[in-house]
Amino acid sequence: RAKATGRQRFVLFDESQQKAAMNVLELELQLRHALHAGEFVPYFQPIVRLDDGSTVGYEALIRWQHPERGLLGPGEFLPVAEESGLIEAIDWHMYRLACAAGAPLVGDGGYISINISPRHFQYEDFDQRLLELLRETGFAPPQLRIEVTEGTLLGDPEAAARILQRLQDAGIGTALDDFGTGYSSLSYVHRFPLKSIKIDRSFISDLGQTNARRSLAIIEAVQGLARSLGLNVVAEGVETEVQRQALLATGCAYAQGFLFGRPQPAEHWQAPAGPAPTVIPEKP
Ligand code: C2E
Ligand code: MG
Ligand code: MG
Ligand code: MG
Repeated sequence: RAKATGRQRFVLFDESQQKAAMNVLELELQLRHALHAGEFVPYFQPIVRLDDGSTVGYEALIRWQHPERGLLGPGEFLPVAEESGLIEAIDWHMYRLACAAGAPLVGDGGYISINISPRHFQYEDFDQRLLELLRETGFAPPQLRIEVTEGTLLGDPEAAARILQRLQDAGIGTALDDFGTGYSSLSYVHRFPLKSIKIDRSFISDLGQTNARRSLAIIEAVQGLARSLGLNVVAEGVETEVQRQALLATGCAYAQGFLFGRPQPAEHWQAPAGPAPTVIPEKP
């Protein structure tokens, strides 16, 4: 009977679904290969002070240097990497590279921020593993920041709080990523040991648009909460001067976005100033 049901189901599993499943399997194989072939690399995007534009840190963002398809962003492969669990191995590889390549960028007081898959918080000893990696790479804990999303915290809030606390005690900065897109309320944030909140890009992109008012109200509320909790606020996805000005007016201190710099390989940010640009003489 069970077999019959199974067969029945198989019939319902139409051709396009079958193809999709095949593509997922194919991609999973490719990801496994890419990991061993060293095709995953960190790109770095500056995090700046809103008032003077000076860089305070860099977020490490994964890229896949695909031999045929070129440079791929996480949107192309992260869901399958998460689903399959491969993200765990990929992330550890990324964190190692991010520390190695990011070390020359941070100097005194700067930091490298890494994104943490929710899967890592299933392990109560995640903090130990991360500290072990830092010891191996010689990367100082205060120069590292981790970014977790609300989903990561809500899985097992007590365990998540413990892990974050131990990371913070070790000197590692903790940030809540994509704030405003999840299910947690503003009042929920104080339960977790966090150093900063990153306001999701969707709120920033509204600024300067017709529906700016609502997003501005949310940004101001986050700002007020952060102030009272002693948290830093980073605005994500700042693309225009209008957005920068609007954020400055709310008292937002830090930002990240194409206005200040796109994600680039570490060498890009390290490059010396180089020779002065050639002056093109005016046409007579
Ligand atoms: P995120 O952590 O919220 O990272 C910010 C995303 O916004 C990045 O996309 C960045 O390229 C993009 N961005 C930055 N400034 C702007 C802007 O001004 N305009 C626009 N339109 N976009 C901007 P990216 O690199 O595609 O990464 C997407 C997401 O993938 C990240 O969102 C993060 O959740 C995840 N991710 C990235 N790297 C890693 C990683 O190494 N491990 C894990 N587990 N997740 C990662
Ligand atoms: Mg992030
Ligand atoms: Mg984000
Ligand atoms: Mg985001």
